[in-house]
Amino acid sequence: MTSLTTTAATGRPIDDLLAGYAAGTLAPPLRSLVAAHLALKPENRAYVAALEGLGGIAIEDTPPCAIANRDAKLAAIFAAAEQPVRSVKPPECAIVPAPLAQFLGRPLADVPWRRRLPGIREFHVKGAGEAEAVLYWINPGRVMPSHTHDGSEVTLVLRGGFSDVTGHFRRGDIAIADAELDHRPRADEDEDCICFAVTDAPLRLTGTVGRIVQRFFGH
Ligand code: ZN
Repeated sequence: MTSLTTTAATGRPIDDLLAGYAAGTLAPPLRSLVAAHLALKPENRAYVAALEGLGGIAIEDTPPCAIANRDAKLAAIFAAAEQPVRSVKPPECAIVPAPLAQFLGRPLADVPWRRRLPGIREFHVKGAGEAEAVLYWINPGRVMPSHTHDGSEVTLVLRGGFSDVTGHFRRGDIAIADAELDHRPRADEDEDCICFAVTDAPLRLTGTVGRIVQRFFGH
């Protein structure tokens, strides 16, 4: 399974994820997730393009703990960020950006949602390999069952937003949860929340309700 921490050791999981994308080391579901993120957040394309440009220097020749080199690298990235990015397309207006729609293999209107809990629907995408790729549709204000993960969980918000102990995430944002995090994501009150989540391993529900409904999530 492709790890999130294979490349540039910047310390922030999101940077590692973008670096993995730039280096071409992400598994297909994560690659689609990041491509969709970049469609929704064009400002990060320059960052990724800079990482691609740095290529071998950034990833292979820089000692992981060389802070001075890291600063130089970041300076180069920010300088590059001010340059126009090649092949920039207009932002996608659809809820599901094209790179992700391609991975899903169907438009959102044709997704065969399954209702797992009141106000929460999900669709497990085939072809995710060892990872688990799931679309969630959460009604306004609904709370996901409390859970942890055996590995990483990377979530891209496609519509609306949600909050958990790590922050508030809106359309285009990526939330990254590791195995340490026990959280209960809550959808914003004003809108349905649609998310695409990729996990290394199935969720483990933790609360009292979670233990009761575990069987509904089990496969
Ligand atoms: Zn989670």
